[in-house]
Amino acid sequence: MTDQPHIIEVAIPLYLDKTFHYRVPERLLNEAVTGRRALVPFGNRKLTGYILGNAVGSGIVNLKDIIEVLDSEPLWTAVELEFYRWVASYYQHPLGEVVRTALPAGINIQTRKGTSGAQETMTGGKSARREKFYLPGKSVDTPRQPSPKALEILEVIREAGAISASELRKRFGACSPQLKRLAELGLSAVEEREVYRNPFKNSTVNRDEPRLLHTHQKAALETITDSLDQQLFSPFLLYGVTGSGKTEVYLQAISHALKLGKSALVLVPEIALTPQLTGRFQDRFGGGIAILHSGLSDGERYDEWRRIRRGLARIVIGARSAIFAPLDKIGIIIVDEEHEASFKQSDGLRYNARDLALVRGRMEQAAVVLGSATPSVTSIHAAGEGRLTLLGLPERVEGRPMPLVELVAMKGSKETISAVLSAGLAETYEQGRQAIVFLNRRGYATFLVCADCGKPLTCPNCSVTLTYHRQRGQSLCHYCDYAVPAPGTCPSCGGATLSELGAGTEKLEHDLKDLLPSARILRMDSDTTSGKGSHERLLSRMNDGSADVLVGTQMIAKGHDFPEVTLVGVINAEASLGMPDFRAAERTFQLLSQVIGRAGRGENPGRVVVQALDIEHYAIRSAAEHDAAGFYQQELEFRREAGYPPFAFLAAFAISGLSEQTVSEQADATARLLGRLKSELKVRVEILGPAQSPIYRLRNRFRRQILLKAVNRGDLHRLLTYWRQRAAVVSTVRISVDIDPVDMM
Ligand code: ADP
Ligand code: ZN
Repeated sequence: MTDQPHIIEVAIPLYLDKTFHYRVPERLLNEAVTGRRALVPFGNRKLTGYILGNAVGSGIVNLKDIIEVLDSEPLWTAVELEFYRWVASYYQHPLGEVVRTALPAGINIQTRKGTSGAQETMTGGKSARREKFYLPGKSVDTPRQPSPKALEILEVIREAGAISASELRKRFGACSPQLKRLAELGLSAVEEREVYRNPFKNSTVNRDEPRLLHTHQKAALETITDSLDQQLFSPFLLYGVTGSGKTEVYLQAISHALKLGKSALVLVPEIALTPQLTGRFQDRFGGGIAILHSGLSDGERYDEWRRIRRGLARIVIGARSAIFAPLDKIGIIIVDEEHEASFKQSDGLRYNARDLALVRGRMEQAAVVLGSATPSVTSIHAAGEGRLTLLGLPERVEGRPMPLVELVAMKGSKETISAVLSAGLAETYEQGRQAIVFLNRRGYATFLVCADCGKPLTCPNCSVTLTYHRQRGQSLCHYCDYAVPAPGTCPSCGGATLSELGAGTEKLEHDLKDLLPSARILRMDSDTTSGKGSHERLLSRMNDGSADVLVGTQMIAKGHDFPEVTLVGVINAEASLGMPDFRAAERTFQLLSQVIGRAGRGENPGRVVVQALDIEHYAIRSAAEHDAAGFYQQELEFRREAGYPPFAFLAAFAISGLSEQTVSEQADATARLLGRLKSELKVRVEILGPAQSPIYRLRNRFRRQILLKAVNRGDLHRLLTYWRQRAAVVSTVRISVDIDPVDMM
């Protein structure tokens, strides 16, 4: 061959801004190609690197050889690599880390130094599962007859064509001697096959046919299918009130994409919370669906990933990380409930899957459908400017009316449940219908306060109060899980009288039991849904009518379709308004609209009672009056005046550490450096802070933040790039930069 050494570019999954060059030894020349992982020497460690391609430019001396190539098939395609590079650049995150995030957790091999310092150990690396399969053998007539049981087994093997050992054991119990005998006689053959762990296990499929669409659905679908036919990037906002039939539009649009030989990617906020949605996809399409979400084991996830990579699944449904699904020929990307904050990853690579859907869709020339009953203010604005094509479903299916909403002012009242709501609950129960009561706070009391010294019980690790959980007999920190026996005594003065302030879902459940002693009341919050399958169990009890009232946090607001629910009660509607976050009104409006939308989805009209201290706030009033247009107009005015998204771009610096002093100094130094670079570069960026974060202490760490605001994204990006090159951060302080932050706490 040639004398020129073969040099490749490798990304390493570490917090390093650059990629590295390695030489490929002769024996690995054929294997070391783009898209595979290689084991490479790095310092005195061995690490998994990602082969990006051949290195450009020569004259590089003293390069190390790669040790091994780890894959026999490429893990990503050229388009996917382009996508990873875009993500790395936009979020200013190392490419190796982006690739690592994109690949399923089970796949990564890590090496670390053994305790002796000399030994390298390899961990991780989930492998494909293989199982023995039995097939009919070559012989048909043999002089020696197998036993009757063996003959029975043979019958089943012949009928099935191929059947796994575990399946045979399920039917026949222990049958190894018979299988061995059949193989000896040549009556059956054995073969090892790869099997995929199945995340759909135990679910039943009910075949479902496409519905005849109503006028608005039809118009929306036709616009989407036209764009699919043209195979051009086309971004849509499917804005349909709750129960207007958005999912039906998704299903039929996907079906069109499949007919064109394309695949479909469906992103949902938290898939574990939407078994109903995945069920509907299965019922409509049968097989060929893969699911990716955090509830899967590493093995299951890796199997789903391989099914997708190999083209065995043409529809992928998943939570935010599914934006990286190794799906090719994507025709359509759907982001359901596009306004949800959970599309944003809150640590590591802080990407937003909703935003990335548009980026990947552009690269794949796909249709992108952002769907919501309460779109984000950003999407409404983009639709107004024509950057998203608006598809509206303004009415509920079959002309069902939106529920009637009453606002109840609670100022001065000590009750948790107002007289109006109690009467409504009693009436609904007597009619044999179902009700939902929503309170966005779990626990019994919001906190305990000492009657002697007046101090509330707070977390020693975080600057928050402890929530009282009566059933558990604990006061609990919802951020770090610190717990003390409760009610207990006051840690400040030893006082023995602790009084309860504010109510949570546990208290509400308790009060409802007093109010309706014979009603079957369920509670759904993160305390009652931590066990595997507990969420589904609660939902199915609502669905089959074996419950009368469902009490819960925002978990109950999302996507559920309970046709028998005719009454919805909202306790403390303004709970989320008090947050020091410019999106507080938007979140409140969305959450209230979603909860209100749970009522009257079936044949009987719905009614909603919203309790709030201040019933005049525009977020509450517009949700109650179904006046979304009014809300968006007012909110956009506020954002424009205050200079917040969508009229500005943000980046948030979070500076944290164990020493208050060091954090404070580092935050000041960071702000000063940013200020200097800003004038050097002459960029228009507003630097706010440093200030204490709203939760100043979290898990023992002190936290400060700096917020950057810019009208021009390029300016912001340049400033951040410069900062990364210049920043000197002491090792005891962590600084993270969040582009387009969602969590402002
Ligand atoms: P959304 O996703 O907007 O909340 P869904 O798609 O879940 O609405 O529709 C609400 C209900 O109406 C579902 O039970 C669905 O099967 C049904 N549905 C949707 N479209 C139609 C239609 N065109 N005709 C009859 N029923 C429909
Ligand atoms: Zn805590």
